[in-house]
Amino acid sequence: MVALVKAKRDDEAPPRVCEREVERENETEETSIHSAIPTRTALCHSSNTKSPEKSREAVDDAGSDHSLMKRRQLAGGEGDSGRRRKKVDFFDALPDDIVVTVLCKLSASASRPSDLVAVLVTCKRLNRLGLDPLVLSRASAESLAIRAKRWSDSSHRFLERCIDAGNLEAYHILGMIRFYCLKNRRSGLSLLAQAAIGNHATALFSLAVIQFNGSGKSSRNDKDLYAGFALCTRAASLGHVDAIRVLGHCLRDGYGVRRNAAEGRRLLILANARELTAFLNTSSSSLPNGYALEPEPHPANRFLVEWFASRRGVVAEGERLRLCSNGGCGLPETRRHEFRRCSACGLVNYCSRACQAMHWKLAHSTECLPIERWLDDAADGGPE
Ligand SMILES: [Zn+2]
Ligand SMILES: [Zn+2]
Repeated sequence: MVALVKAKRDDEAPPRVCEREVERENETEETSIHSAIPTRTALCHSSNTKSPEKSREAVDDAGSDHSLMKRRQLAGGEGDSGRRRKKVDFFDALPDDIVVTVLCKLSASASRPSDLVAVLVTCKRLNRLGLDPLVLSRASAESLAIRAKRWSDSSHRFLERCIDAGNLEAYHILGMIRFYCLKNRRSGLSLLAQAAIGNHATALFSLAVIQFNGSGKSSRNDKDLYAGFALCTRAASLGHVDAIRVLGHCLRDGYGVRRNAAEGRRLLILANARELTAFLNTSSSSLPNGYALEPEPHPANRFLVEWFASRRGVVAEGERLRLCSNGGCGLPETRRHEFRRCSACGLVNYCSRACQAMHWKLAHSTECLPIERWLDDAADGGPE
């Protein structure tokens, strides 16, 4: 009897159980996809499974192993394609506003131009949204750090596009390139001035150096020390360390302003303290052999260094113009004897007291020898 019941169950049960299992299996997969993607993919699936014709076919094919395998494969295939569609649909479903917000954060925190370029070349949508004025206006100085050897019309146009979007870093970088490298003084000064109006501290300091040196002018009498001091004061109030240092020297020496030695010393101490704080806050900082670590130059200065290095330091053919001896600065003279020489050795030239102080700490303190004085003494018959 038991054997009979068992035999009956064996005869009757399998086809129906299999059919239900298959249907449940399909339902489960479809339900999970539907719950994850309430999109056209889900609608497509549900219309297929719920049509009466499909249901009839399923009943007719029940019990056939071949058809079961086929359906399982089909179900599996549909699952994979559904997952693929899920990724595409998820990104497409994101509104432009959200994508632009994410791209704004990326461009503001990018540490190299390739971070932004990699997004622009991904797809048409990201290319369009990556060039949105809002994204370009937030682009960091490092993301605009174009290499001098790759300078081209397209990189020039890209910086102009960032300027049109109101990016102050782009104003400063292109202003420096036009003023010093392309020798388009008027346009360069205009861009730097617009960045300065927007309270860009580095642009304010760059303009101060131009005014102190009378850069771009034909005579050294065209220096405007008062304007240089005013610009430097503004940059110092925004926390620019080099500006604080130059301001300290001006006040201590009475250069371009009434002498105030005590205030000058206070500012020099403040500049050293700020520099030390910035150095200690740098996680990767270490003092090699007790010497100060050179701070990372601004991208505009890196461009100038590379630009003139590729010309073997030649600023202008036929004119013996020199570069600032501080390696990370890159500023060139715009007329002969524009920069001040080291009063001890006479072998190095600096665009500003800030560059002189930095180069002294980095290298020149161990190199500075009063050779010219020795030569003069030798010519006079030796020191008395
Ligand atoms: Zn310099
Ligand atoms: Zn020297």
